[in-house]
Amino acid sequence: MNSNPNITSVESLLSVTGLSVHLGSRTLVTGVDLAVRRGEILGLIGPNGAGKSTVLKAVAQLLPYRGAMQLAGHQLSRLSARERARRVAYLNQDDQVQWPITVAELVALGRYPHRSAWGGVPDAEDRAAVEAAMHSADVWSLRARRADQLSGGERARARLARVLAVQAPLVLADEPVAALDPRHQLEVMALLRGHCADGGAAIVVLHDLTLASRFCDRLLLLDRGEPAATGPVDAVLVPANLRAVYGIDAVTGLHAGQRYIVPWSLEPDAIHPPDRKTGHGANVKPPY
Ligand code: ADP
Ligand code: MG
Repeated sequence: MNSNPNITSVESLLSVTGLSVHLGSRTLVTGVDLAVRRGEILGLIGPNGAGKSTVLKAVAQLLPYRGAMQLAGHQLSRLSARERARRVAYLNQDDQVQWPITVAELVALGRYPHRSAWGGVPDAEDRAAVEAAMHSADVWSLRARRADQLSGGERARARLARVLAVQAPLVLADEPVAALDPRHQLEVMALLRGHCADGGAAIVVLHDLTLASRFCDRLLLLDRGEPAATGPVDAVLVPANLRAVYGIDAVTGLHAGQRYIVPWSLEPDAIHPPDRKTGHGANVKPPY
């Protein structure tokens, strides 16, 4: 790793080139390049089945893949499982908790990569990390509850707390807000931003285009296993891409300098493009 903080701060924490994932004769993902710097959230968007989870699993080294991945100057595939688990925290999309353990015990699992190879008991640092993660994800009051008996949204926050407890520089989060109420959606996105403000980075799979626009620095739009667009948010979330990839038109506008994007219509041309001056999109065409 580069020891000069000025250099590491502008270098990519993670860079992926030429990623493809094949399963038997099927190609799930191909031609994916991505990079994420410290301080950045990269949003991974695209329709169901586009390959978002596959990309994240490949980065988490959970699937065989072709291509090169560098994490802070290390070849990711060469790191030991323990090293990797300290540096990359992965929140999968599957929303189940398999065991009858408490929320506190679930979150404490995030500290396992920090234990010695012989196990050992949690030290003060582990306990502080678990406590801080439970407060951040707003599950402190649930800490004694059984994790497999929570509501979908509570469980999602408990699972996120486990990922935060790792204190890994890179967080990979697959649809972390899918089950959450609006307030918790905003809280989770703010949390991920906070992780990045502290020098971390995140790749986050999202379906909510407004959250993608407001909270991500750059986006990778996947379509049928291939990148359809990548770059700054405003360059990716343009009407032509929404039509071509999702087959929708959206109402869009600006509020407090930030863009909102509301999927509106299955029919192309139903919505006028945003007004150049106000940034507001017109509603659907009047029926006359
Ligand atoms: P997304 O997360 O964007 O919804 P996925 O990455 O889960 O999409 O899946 C991408 C494609 O790969 C889909 O067509 C899906 O059906 C297929 N796929 C994913 N996992 C498997 C698997 N284990 N076996 C066969 N096909 C799979
Ligand atoms: Mg998925």
